[in-house]
Amino acid sequence: MEIRGLIDRGYVHTVIRKRPVDVHKGDCGKVLIVAGSREMAGAAIFASKAAIRCGSGLVKICTNKKIFLSLQTSVPEAICMEWGNTKDDLMQYDCIAIGPGMGVDRRSKNILKMILKDFDKTVVIDADGLNTIAKYDELQQLVRKTEASVIMTPHIGEAKRLLGNANIADLTRIEIASFLRKKYGCMIIVKGANTLVAVSDEDAYTNTTGNPGMATAGSGDVLTGIITSLAGQGLAPEDAAKAGVFVHGLSGDLAADKLGEYGLVASDIADYVPFALKELT
Ligand code: AMP
Ligand code: MG
Repeated sequence: MEIRGLIDRGYVHTVIRKRPVDVHKGDCGKVLIVAGSREMAGAAIFASKAAIRCGSGLVKICTNKKIFLSLQTSVPEAICMEWGNTKDDLMQYDCIAIGPGMGVDRRSKNILKMILKDFDKTVVIDADGLNTIAKYDELQQLVRKTEASVIMTPHIGEAKRLLGNANIADLTRIEIASFLRKKYGCMIIVKGANTLVAVSDEDAYTNTTGNPGMATAGSGDVLTGIITSLAGQGLAPEDAAKAGVFVHGLSGDLAADKLGEYGLVASDIADYVPFALKELT
């Protein structure tokens, strides 16, 4: 695997376009985000807020009903549902995200299994979605076999778990991406300063936006929402991954311009997504 180039403004301009004047919300993507738990309502809030702020026509969030109220208060535009209560047809969604704050248990395993078996568009897997995959061989096989285009978004700790707790402390980002790619065969985003996006066995790209203020709880959940929203709006999985990390970093940079790096929190990054998109379109 080699770094083929930088993810910069020029590239992002070519994939995120101005909206057509006669666009309808039905054209802007319907996404499902499986996230959150009683202990981690924020993860679901950050991901769904980022998706709606990134332009999704409709955001549905599948979560524990005990946090419906906080979600509906923080992101009133999103629709809440509980897994299993409704016979929801997964194919109605243009993109599905799974993982932020959902916990690692049999329920998470079963939902992942169903999505990987029944869905064939883009699936973004983050956080506890990745931790659950790291735990179950059966899911690891499914990631390799699924018809869906999978994008995994690990930070270094999650990457280590996905590689069976291998010692990766001395590896470069590109080596980590390359091992993950060999094991899972999907698109890999290795997060951190200079996030790397590996789109194939040969090709990887380095992001050029972002700042140390983004090293804060929930920041990655915002990224999940952005990538999911862009894929749901019709960007090819590779473009959603690359443009997603750029928009996330630019939102963080614009937020840091106003607030500085120390006080920057995940909700600020989500709140600045509209300004990033305004600059880019
Ligand atoms: P997570 O650890 O899942 O919350 O994800 C953190 C997010 O913030 C990722 O998108 C990282 O790329 C980004 N991030 C964390 N630290 C930095 C940094 N020092 N510079 C730029 N981006 C960062
Ligand atoms: Mg995270």
